[in-house]
Amino acid sequence: MLENIRIVLVHTSHPGNIGAAARAMKNMGLNKLTLVRPKQHPSFEAYSRAAGADDVLADAVVVDSLAEAIADCVWVAGTSARSRTVKWQVFEPRECAAQCLQHSNEGEVAIVFGRESSGLTNEELEQCHALVHIPANPEYSSLNVAAAVQVLSYECRLAALAAGEGETPDTARGNKHRDDVAASVEQLDGMYQHLYDTLAQIDFFGTNNPDVVMRRLRGLFNRAQVTRREVAIVRGICSAAQGKKAGRTKSRH
Ligand code: SAH
Repeated sequence: MLENIRIVLVHTSHPGNIGAAARAMKNMGLNKLTLVRPKQHPSFEAYSRAAGADDVLADAVVVDSLAEAIADCVWVAGTSARSRTVKWQVFEPRECAAQCLQHSNEGEVAIVFGRESSGLTNEELEQCHALVHIPANPEYSSLNVAAAVQVLSYECRLAALAAGEGETPDTARGNKHRDDVAASVEQLDGMYQHLYDTLAQIDFFGTNNPDVVMRRLRGLFNRAQVTRREVAIVRGICSAAQGKKAGRTKSRH
């Protein structure tokens, strides 16, 4: 469902790029735009570059952080002009669009684009489930951000057309229990916090750096595309471990 796919632009410097991105989106049937701390918004330049897509600009949501922009999403793809380390699952735009469309049947999906000057930070990419790289000329691989939005939006449109318009969210969900749908970023964050607290409480980290361990666990869970039911199970395990530890501690005293 194209209506569940949002484009997130992080710290965009040039308002003209925001307008051009809005136009690129609307051409392809996408209309949800989220701006994370844009340098300037709203602006005359963005509106003039948006041409007839001023409704997308007017409805754009402006937030302070990427975390806020994707909190309610069940799947998030981060774009990168460079191929990064193997830590992330890297998709080409076509595969990414297929994933977006599939996950959009379960909830909100985001494709995140970075700063014109420096792209997305590793910390921002770590908040994404997967990475998308447009396989451009390796000697000149960095597209203008609005051009990159155009490529991804077009692929989402192609994927939606290929899937046919007959599929409604209800039929796509079939008879799935409501807890068998993908967990949102917010639900996953709650689970990571619970895991962190539990692992600290049971002295699991030892001499290991907790941030590194948690980063690896996030990578693992992001690849697994965890459902709400699975979040509940992991949190149940955490609560049980915490209870045991508390019990043991108590019995020692
Ligand atoms: N100098 C930056 C490039 C930023 S280009 C860097 O090295 O990361 C601005 C944004 O456009 C990127 O953050 C990404 O969102 C998008 N983009 C540009 N080229 C891309 C490519 N080949 N594949 C995927 N996204 C790309």
